[in-house]
Amino acid sequence: MNDQTTSVAAILDAAKTAGRDSLSAADARALCLAYGIPVPDEGLATSADEAATVSAEIGYPVVMKIESPDILHKSDAGGVVVGVDSEDAARAAYDQIIANATAHDADAAVDGVQVQQQASGDLEVIVGAVTDPSFGKLVAFGLGGVLVEVMRDVTFRLAPVAAEDAAGMLTSVRGAEILDGVRGQAGVDRAALAGIIEAVGKLVSDHPEISEVDLNPVLASPDGAIAVDARILLDFDQQPARYRPGQEEILTAMRRIMQPDAVAVIGASPEAGKIGNSVMKNLINGGYEGEIYPIHPRAEEVEGRKAYTSVTEIDGQVDVAVFCIPAPLVPRVLEEVGQKEIPGAVLIPSGFAEVGEEELQQQALDVARKHNIRLMGPNIYGFYYTHKNLCATFCTPYDERGSVALSSQSGGVGMAIIGFSRTNQMGVSAIVGLGNKADIDEDDLLTFFEQDDNTQVVAMHVEDLKDGRSFAEVASRVTKQKPVVVLKAGRTSLGARAARSHTGALAGDDQIYDDVLRQSGVIRAMTLNDMLEYARGLQVLPTPQGENILILTGAGGSGVLLSDACADNGLSLMSMPDDLDAAFREYIPPFGASGNPVDITGGEPPTTYQNTIRLALEDERVHALVLGYWHTIITPPMVFADLLSEEIERARGKGIHKPVVASLVGDVEVEDAARKLMEHDILAYPYEAEKPVAVLAAKYRWARQAGLI
Ligand code: ADP
Ligand code: MG
Repeated sequence: MNDQTTSVAAILDAAKTAGRDSLSAADARALCLAYGIPVPDEGLATSADEAATVSAEIGYPVVMKIESPDILHKSDAGGVVVGVDSEDAARAAYDQIIANATAHDADAAVDGVQVQQQASGDLEVIVGAVTDPSFGKLVAFGLGGVLVEVMRDVTFRLAPVAAEDAAGMLTSVRGAEILDGVRGQAGVDRAALAGIIEAVGKLVSDHPEISEVDLNPVLASPDGAIAVDARILLDFDQQPARYRPGQEEILTAMRRIMQPDAVAVIGASPEAGKIGNSVMKNLINGGYEGEIYPIHPRAEEVEGRKAYTSVTEIDGQVDVAVFCIPAPLVPRVLEEVGQKEIPGAVLIPSGFAEVGEEELQQQALDVARKHNIRLMGPNIYGFYYTHKNLCATFCTPYDERGSVALSSQSGGVGMAIIGFSRTNQMGVSAIVGLGNKADIDEDDLLTFFEQDDNTQVVAMHVEDLKDGRSFAEVASRVTKQKPVVVLKAGRTSLGARAARSHTGALAGDDQIYDDVLRQSGVIRAMTLNDMLEYARGLQVLPTPQGENILILTGAGGSGVLLSDACADNGLSLMSMPDDLDAAFREYIPPFGASGNPVDITGGEPPTTYQNTIRLALEDERVHALVLGYWHTIITPPMVFADLLSEEIERARGKGIHKPVVASLVGDVEVEDAARKLMEHDILAYPYEAEKPVAVLAAKYRWARQAGLI
């Protein structure tokens, strides 16, 4: 421990001994000073006379504030007087503050009045910290002093915060421009603010018993920043650390579970309609080539495979046991799985924590921990790993191989994933049900998908992250290589936090998820369909080489909608070079619009589409192409689909791989055209202008955060 941490630890110990759940202003100030956070000079006065003496020592003007462990928001109690500029004023302010505080709460313990040097600053901001059950310590930065709760313009980062991330927080709030000064004001000292953010992150990371920090306000000026009100809340009951094996250990178990050579089906049943029968059939009919061992108390064989009474009877090694037995039997049978040293159990049955049987779930988990078994579920449909022809599930089999891995916390969403994938011929590597997540959760899965060469895109439906911090850590690493899409459900249920600090009140669950997911490079999808479309698009679209987007449209109206969608999604339209403009003009009628969007107009034959698409594909300055097709009798939908496929094929043949998305407007035939294009791995959407752009934007978001453009 260095001096900084020792002095702080001593203060915290004293507070613990005194049974306090917040620090006094003087102690909070001492912590700030220990961590290099600028604070004003101050002293405590316990009489009007003392107020005058302390004020004189500090130098007028001063600010005087009530000092009471029972008054959280001092202004609300009439407990703050600013601009105290003389001895008389200091005495008067003292009496006034004590009187106000007593009137506000006659029972409040009053330690005196804090006398503070009056600081100047152009802008009030808030810097704080909270403790989240899933993410642990987070640092907050927001604008607005008293307005902060109305504007809720605040951003969070996992603590500790590195210098560059602290600087990044300053630009992450909506009103970031205010920091640069508005209406002729000078901008504030960003480095000073970033320094305070960093210091708060370090403070709470070093001392986990600090549950919340509220520096509200920090007064920022062109030449510095100073915390004039520091509140520090304490919680000495520490959360137990989450169980987390090392990455290698996770990987070894996950590999055997996801790519097993031998599967045991516990509760395999010869009776059609039973879950244990569906799982057997799906494994066999899905074409799984590894060993399948049905476990059944009496049957000789199930679905033509020799049955065993227990996994302990099996001679060979078993990699995963799929449970299809009632919940109450699970812990006992898990013991046998443990004896057999099977590293993974897939718990399909429901009847655990989701119906209030937390104890039974804990029992199963205890057995699993004892034998080092990883649990998937319970309360799940199972999982698929297509590259092993593995359908370890009671749902319908799925065998369209590809590189998208998907997970869901709910069975219904899992079925939607399968239905969407089938209709859209989306090739998947894995589909995994996580259900109650007694053990295996998204970070375990990500750790596996990270190194799985069959997986290039990961999409996850998440209700809650049991360990958001581990997820963020793994996701930050994975997203540099492979896109990760997350649909976070439950975003409207703001966390019911006990709001003892401003920062705490601002820390709605969704705000934290949103900030941390972005910080980890995750692409957030706001709807189920977005998640699926992004997953498909991220797999199919090549990575763009730059930011220049060109819209080419047969309908002026589509061009406008597509432009709006680009702007909404942070995509920039290329400014058209003169020579390229002239080249397009060669092909389009004189009343067509060049520039960007290029409007080729509605009455054009296939050759116009062909020529202009080819030009856009072959010009190196165009990095991505958004097409707006309009159904006409001169160029019908299927003709367009064919010519676009040919042009893209031709370009691919020349080594040109650019992202192309198409919006198809017209009568129902455009649906066939979209399907046809999809078969050629070209993303086309009937009756949509926003979706193709949003999907393209997802690819851009990923490529940017991975540093590829
Ligand atoms: P509380 O938040 O408990 O009501 P503060 O200490 O934040 O009390 O004071 C209320 C307001 O008074 C601050 O938001 C700030 O505008 C102003 N203020 C407080 N202390 C100072 C100071 N030392 N210098 C300048 N202004 C101050
Ligand atoms: Mg305050």
